[in-house]
Amino acid sequence: MPPASTYYLERRWRSGAEEGFTRMALDFKTLLGEAEVAHGHLCAGQILGVRMAMLGLERLGISDPRGADRKRLVTYVEIDRCATDAIAVVTGCRLGKRALKFRDWGKMAATFVDLSSGRAIRIAAKESSKQRARELYPEIADKNRQQMHAYREMADRELFSEEWVAVTVEAQEMPGYKSARVVCAVCGEGINYDREVERDGRILCLGCADVARRYYRAL
Ligand SMILES: [Zn+2]
Ligand SMILES: [Zn+2]
Repeated sequence: MPPASTYYLERRWRSGAEEGFTRMALDFKTLLGEAEVAHGHLCAGQILGVRMAMLGLERLGISDPRGADRKRLVTYVEIDRCATDAIAVVTGCRLGKRALKFRDWGKMAATFVDLSSGRAIRIAAKESSKQRARELYPEIADKNRQQMHAYREMADRELFSEEWVAVTVEAQEMPGYKSARVVCAVCGEGINYDREVERDGRILCLGCADVARRYYRAL
């Protein structure tokens, strides 16, 4: 049975002199449709991501993450895969808003942090869920299709493990943090969010402070 939780999308509208407010209920199917559009295709990862995010929001009691509650949530994701896109769609947490944090651990897990209450829940996909999908739909050879069918129907406790955790979101990591903008003494590029370091009395960006660890090299 698909999750019963409902979320809302709020939109202000104006037509001539008239103004209004529309509140639209979002259910699993609607959210999955949105995730499919944003991600480019429908896959088992989208189903897992939508359900993981819905469960996290439900546990935190956040019903309107993209409307009235949009400043309450920060989400940490531990993998850069399909499900991550779906989590961003459902929660409204995006990299460009500083509300989506990426920890590159290669794990299908995410932690949802409610900034207003300080509560946080970490949810991870269970290893056994793939085996359960095989048991439920042995007749479907294609793994992705097999999992897409199974992940829609499996209970939350079959799909996920969850634990309440404490997360310290430092001031400089918060969405909306205002920082001084400084200039690197070597490359001359601007540095935001206190990412500069001091070396021998000079202010440097991380790339210039440790050239060996740059992810690129000049040609
Ligand atoms: Zn995908
Ligand atoms: Zn620099």
